[in-house]
Amino acid sequence: MKKLINTETRLIGLLGYPLKHSFSPAMQNAAIEEHKLNKLYIPIEVQKKDLDTVVKGISRMNFDGFNVTIPYKVDIIKYLDDIDESALMAGAVNTVVIKSGKMKGFNTDGRGFILAFKAGTSESVQGKKFLVLGGGGAARAITVSLVLNGAEQVFLHNRTHEKALRLVEEISSKIKNSCRIKAVSDMELSSITKESKVIINATSVGMYPNVEDDPIDKSFLQKKHIVCDIVYNPENTKLLETAARIGCKTLSGTGMLVYQGIESFRLWTGKAVSPDTMFRAIDLEKQEHWPEGQH
Ligand code: NAP
Repeated sequence: MKKLINTETRLIGLLGYPLKHSFSPAMQNAAIEEHKLNKLYIPIEVQKKDLDTVVKGISRMNFDGFNVTIPYKVDIIKYLDDIDESALMAGAVNTVVIKSGKMKGFNTDGRGFILAFKAGTSESVQGKKFLVLGGGGAARAITVSLVLNGAEQVFLHNRTHEKALRLVEEISSKIKNSCRIKAVSDMELSSITKESKVIINATSVGMYPNVEDDPIDKSFLQKKHIVCDIVYNPENTKLLETAARIGCKTLSGTGMLVYQGIESFRLWTGKAVSPDTMFRAIDLEKQEHWPEGQH
């Protein structure tokens, strides 16, 4: 049935640049449809010079809120009236809720990863040692959530080691009584991988079109590892392929994508969505709009 758009329709946006390959419009509109809400989720590509005008305009319009993606997850903070602890700790915002013209920022990436990890591996975070590869926005949000969810230890390795050192210092200063977090150098990576139970690729290495790239030396992987990749394009990255061949439990990035979306939808609407609705929307989007070989 054709969707009715009228003056009562509430909008939810996605702000970023570029947005061509985002799955969020398909996922969020499927959730809106599941609940038969008079809402519409729309991508809004914004150039940096226009961010100020667009955000101020949105706050005066019929928007319930918006998602924020690359490159504005940090830039958006200066426009907010309030910020949730999740976003404050992560130092980045991916979800904004607007109520009575006031904007509050959240970060659902970290919680999205934790929920996906539990659902996809049937394992708990508590008492485990994690090695997070990366030092960007996603690595930061995931590290904070691992710490808050009772990980025994989180090791952080990044191509730019100084960034990992800074991140560890910053997170440790924000979270008191936290588990131990340690920045790992290239030299230490082999032994730390051995010591860890879970390896998470939170870099963009292995993402389309560089699908042959590996974020870690494959000789470091062992059968005992749970190997997670937050890259979701392709679904089955080279890292996950190798890990599965060795016999490791694996988790792809699509789960995190779905669960961060579910958390954002709950913040805007107060409603729960079944993960299957969003997984199906992603599959459909890939079949209909993605060129052969890109998924
Ligand atoms: P970001 O802030 O730009 O960080 C990128 C990270 O990747 C940095 O740590 C960077 O290291 C590292 N990196 C990039 N190219 C590298 C290379 N050739 N060798 C080694 N390290 C490299 O990006 P982000 O927002 O954290 O996102 C990272 C990835 O996660 C992206 O692929 C994104 O699509 C994905 N992601 C997935 C989800 C999900 O829901 N599944 C959510 C968010 C992000 P340097 O610091 O040294 O530059």
